Amino acid sequence: MISVEEARRQIRENSVVLETVECVLEEAWGRVLAEDVISDAFYPSEDRSMMDGYVIGAEAEPGDFNLVGEIPAGAVPDQVLGAGEAMRIFTGAILPEGGGRVIMQEEVKRDGDRISIGEFAENLFIRPQGSEATPDQVVLEKGRLLGATELAILAQVGRVRCKVVRPLVVRHLATGNELVPPDQKPGPGQIRDTNSTLLAGLLKSMGIDLSDSHHALDDPQSLAEIAEGDWDILLVSGGASVGDYDFGAEALKRLGFIIHFDRVNLRPGKPLTFATRGKQVAFVIPGNPVSHFVCFQVAIRLAMETMAGREGGWDFLSLKLENAAALKPDPRDTFWPARVSVKDGEWTIAPVRWSTSGDTFSLVGINALARINGNSPADGRVQALLLDLPVSGL
Ligand code: AMP
Ligand code: MG
Repeated sequence: MISVEEARRQIRENSVVLETVECVLEEAWGRVLAEDVISDAFYPSEDRSMMDGYVIGAEAEPGDFNLVGEIPAGAVPDQVLGAGEAMRIFTGAILPEGGGRVIMQEEVKRDGDRISIGEFAENLFIRPQGSEATPDQVVLEKGRLLGATELAILAQVGRVRCKVVRPLVVRHLATGNELVPPDQKPGPGQIRDTNSTLLAGLLKSMGIDLSDSHHALDDPQSLAEIAEGDWDILLVSGGASVGDYDFGAEALKRLGFIIHFDRVNLRPGKPLTFATRGKQVAFVIPGNPVSHFVCFQVAIRLAMETMAGREGGWDFLSLKLENAAALKPDPRDTFWPARVSVKDGEWTIAPVRWSTSGDTFSLVGINALARINGNSPADGRVQALLLDLPVSGL
């Protein structure tokens, strides 16, 4: 049985970055940039004032000055500033030739066209030309996820079109003779399908719309039909174990997939299968919802991030443990659903009461996984994988 780290290595190695498409600025939010974006100019384009105040020469000493003009933001100064002269200037306005220091208006006494300045602050209150970016400087690197601030940079450098990785096409198949849709009352021996909804939500958090979701009985033929066609990632819920009705890995093999692994030293989620056929990636995920959640965060997300051209985040934080007794250690590499929150100005982690991997109810509000293997953590801290940054109210 392979380790979680080895499983992740194999996923990264066998997932291929998708093709790129051109995208307009309005539609680029949440996409991954597929090119380096360079600056088109100096930013700022000229030396500019950081304050509303008065501009004087760089070498000027404190004293009295003649006021010889005014430069509002957006104006181009056409006058050279001489010795003993000052101009009124506003935030963002271009400095005149001969200007080298801005004095805040609060520091200046004005009497008509004369101003008087006492001691200078050390700060020149000037944003020099090119101090933020210079022409041809890379301002956004390939592989960046485009959020509000990255889009603002595209807007600033005038890139209204850019290359992004095309969206992933995910197909889902929920298998199980026992499943009924959420709007039906389960008969004897039946349960409602919760995984389809769980996966749709997890995908949504990655900006992926799961519109291609199916249900089938435990019959290998169902998988053969679903595996047809154009998709990038196939997620099969259930049928991952070794029971008589668990046909997942076998059926994929018959359909021409290479099975990279079908067991991982992971709790919950041991019977996870990862397979590829050309550029297509398939996972068969153990049917229990908690296993689903953990397999998604530990393995499936990585394939999607890799295919989208992103570096998968896998950083653990040592956090103060709140209710250590809830953790039941096991020799397997365990990823325990947990809630991280801020208590008394410090982040703490509370593992949920999780009895079995079918216990969906334990998952309410979780935003982290506590990683333990072997013994309970002795120092009152545990390694945590943060899934969503905890903010007030979580
Ligand atoms: P399996 O991996 O098919 O052996 O399923 C393991 C457990 O998960 C069984 O108790 C199934 O009934 C349950 N299960 C499978 N698929 C789903 C689903 N879509 N929603 C909720 N529970 C499921
Ligand atoms: Mg099943």
